[in-house]
Amino acid sequence: MSTAEQDLLRIACCIKCRSDLEFDEGGESLLRCTGCPASYPVVHGVPVLLDPDADEVSSLVRDFYASGWKRKDGGALAAREIHEDLSDYGQQYIKTNEDRFISFLEDERVEFFLDVGCGAQPRVDFGIHGDRHVCLDLSLEGLIEARQILGDRAICICGSILDIPLKDGVADQVIASHTLYHIDRDLQPVAISEIARVRAPHGKALIFYVNPDSPERRFYSSIVAAGRWVKRMIRGSSLPVREPALYYSPHSISFMMDCLAEKFPGAKVSVQPLRVLIKKTSQPLMRHHLLGKWVLRLLFAVEARMRSRPRTASYVSYLIE
Ligand SMILES: [Zn+2]
Repeated sequence: MSTAEQDLLRIACCIKCRSDLEFDEGGESLLRCTGCPASYPVVHGVPVLLDPDADEVSSLVRDFYASGWKRKDGGALAAREIHEDLSDYGQQYIKTNEDRFISFLEDERVEFFLDVGCGAQPRVDFGIHGDRHVCLDLSLEGLIEARQILGDRAICICGSILDIPLKDGVADQVIASHTLYHIDRDLQPVAISEIARVRAPHGKALIFYVNPDSPERRFYSSIVAAGRWVKRMIRGSSLPVREPALYYSPHSISFMMDCLAEKFPGAKVSVQPLRVLIKKTSQPLMRHHLLGKWVLRLLFAVEARMRSRPRTASYVSYLIE
């Protein structure tokens, strides 16, 4: 058994009874629970610790990423094209803002860094101080891509955030980067409870999330609503609401702060702006070489002055310590 497999058995557990798992005697393609009759397949070296009766949104997200994490002809991951401004300056804008939070996690050497809902994009820079980068996702394709990026440090587990197949308190640090708002709205507190359960005592957790009430998001929502109203006036009938490509339903900052305080009793919970602009605004501005450069400079200058005002940002970061 490799050391990665030994470490997997140290932290993973049965999702039905939370007992230890062991590899089947016949080989390493099956994990058996030591406490109940459950067994779980290991596909391409990735244990699939999933409940077959998972909720509807989880299956939707899994199906989306099963194709979303495959590379398009140009080499970019399909899922990234939907979410991110992939222009050079757009990427610089996202990365510089997110990298500000690496320092939150880097003051200590840890054993297990848990990357919840990592998809094919494990947060390598954030987990660099962990001996093991534990990737948890619903998408097998995403995890296999993540393992290629992380190499031997990776422990990849196919599982749900709503029922994390890890023992209590094993994750020294946790990141949930742009993951939670894709979970069923009513189930997001369950996911947060699960992160709190697997978090080691005094372990740090970082959550990148959407602020649905930012001025920019409100502006776009009112334009969409007005457009729909105009179309309805012209056509005289109700229009079907177009479903987004991927389920998305963020809670307000006040809801999240209350929820986090409840689920992480005794921890210090805070919120900071992550970035102000969403892709819809940043992409047209940053696509141009010269304009993009100046927009980026201006944005960084403005955002630096707004660090204490998370409500102005379209994306925020929740810090638990
Ligand atoms: Zn069991």
